[in-house]
Amino acid sequence: MPISLIPIRDALDIRPGRLFIDGQWRDWDGERFDQIHPSTNEVMTSLAEAGVRGVDLAVAAARRAFDEGPWPRMRAQDRKRMLQPIVERIYAAEEEIARLQTLDNGIPFSFSRNSRVSPKAAADIFDHFFGWIDKINGETYPLFSDASNTQYMTFREPVGVVAAILPYNGPVMTFAMKVAPALACGCTVVVKPSEYTNLAVLKLAEIIAESDLPPGVFNVVTGGSAAGAALSSHAGIDKVTFTGSPVVGEKITMASASSMKRLSLELGGKSAAIVFPDASSVATAATRLMGLCSTFLSGQVCSTPTRAIVHRSVMDEFLHHAAEQVKTVRFGDPFDPATTSAPIISKRQKDKILGYIDTGRREGAELMFGGATPGGDLANGNWIDPVLFANVRNDMTIAREEIFGPVLSVIPFDAEEEAIRLANESDYGLAGCVYTGNVNRAFRVARAIRSGSIGVNGYASIPNAPMGGIKRSGVGREGGWPTIEAFTELKTISFNLDG
Ligand code: NAD
Repeated sequence: MPISLIPIRDALDIRPGRLFIDGQWRDWDGERFDQIHPSTNEVMTSLAEAGVRGVDLAVAAARRAFDEGPWPRMRAQDRKRMLQPIVERIYAAEEEIARLQTLDNGIPFSFSRNSRVSPKAAADIFDHFFGWIDKINGETYPLFSDASNTQYMTFREPVGVVAAILPYNGPVMTFAMKVAPALACGCTVVVKPSEYTNLAVLKLAEIIAESDLPPGVFNVVTGGSAAGAALSSHAGIDKVTFTGSPVVGEKITMASASSMKRLSLELGGKSAAIVFPDASSVATAATRLMGLCSTFLSGQVCSTPTRAIVHRSVMDEFLHHAAEQVKTVRFGDPFDPATTSAPIISKRQKDKILGYIDTGRREGAELMFGGATPGGDLANGNWIDPVLFANVRNDMTIAREEIFGPVLSVIPFDAEEEAIRLANESDYGLAGCVYTGNVNRAFRVARAIRSGSIGVNGYASIPNAPMGGIKRSGVGREGGWPTIEAFTELKTISFNLDG
């Protein structure tokens, strides 16, 4: 029987169709849109399309709260005491938020509950950033010369009203990575989740709404690209923090230019994993890399190394283990513990990925397996059997463009310099990985790769270390102190000591 998620949806307390503005939930009297589940293409719920009017209301509230309210001027300890309970409330609602996230984007519940995109991971992110609140300090400078007796010092002040625009693939985690530092730094914020994934974010908003924050400090609007565009171009916004595609990143850059908004852009990737013959286990490298493309979010993760640059001498071994890994993949009901992989977020994105697979074949890459769309009980969902292309050339479309789906492109190499060159010949520079047992080579190659971060023998991001991209992968870093810098403005005060 085809899967249905309607019974699970009906068992949860979902109250969508509302916007959270100026400290109040507002039933929306404007347009609405449907959120569709990618495993089944059933309508999960109908949501408020905030459009320009909803965005105006939310930005006005956030602006008032910033310009006139107590929030940006509050003592660090008071702000921390007000925010800290959010962490425990998220932990307490872990299970429900994880269920909603699975109802949002089809990530298997086991991953929604226990992974770096889980509510627990989000609570840890809030905890990390709330820990900074009483440590956001400036500097004092030594008196420079006899010419002046003036003391210089800097202060970190909140950047202002923040627009946080989220993608669909990790709604809970990306919400935390943006809202936690914004609130910690004393900013006010308007959040817009992806039109595909609203339920978990609205639950997180309910949790924050319980916090007695001054009205207007935290606001949520739902909607599609029109609401996103209205938000990122709004004169009342001081900073946009965005995670999403490079195409939309470009639009936001353009829309924000006239008012010189501060921008943090976490965009796409085409990261490379280089597998050397001296890796401690080529099997592990192959299993992990294929696993990242075939399980969890099925390759719909920005940092996934979707180009495996593999030494020719271990190519057969690599391909063998990648093929073994893919046998463990199970599609199905995302709440079934046996399900390993997420569907593709929309029919449109599924068709786009199938188009890339055709292009890969046409351009001469060797399709080793995958690319079929399962029928039977799965026919209603957006599933694609994970794909491995061998003998890919770096100039092929599938090696250059972000596919954002279950496709691994394997590129052979012979010499270390060649592998580095191939890795760097990309419009992107988000993450990457080096598999080697040779420490000198590990550092040499990790330093030579042009990307915001790189892992040796594996890769994962954590909240207290910076992550972000160069080139078309974005602007700025998320994680730890660099995030605090990105949500504050530096003010220099000079104090004439003779005055
Ligand atoms: P997307 O760019 O299609 O949408 C992201 C958000 O932008 C949505 O909320 C959408 O409504 C909004 N939006 C659409 N048009 C807009 C406009 N003109 N102005 C302002 N906002 C607008 O991205 P997606 O499909 O949700 O996410 C996938 C992309 O996100 C991939 O490219 C992936 O690599 C990237 N991503 C990057 C990171 C990272 O940390 N670097 C993390 C996750 C995802």
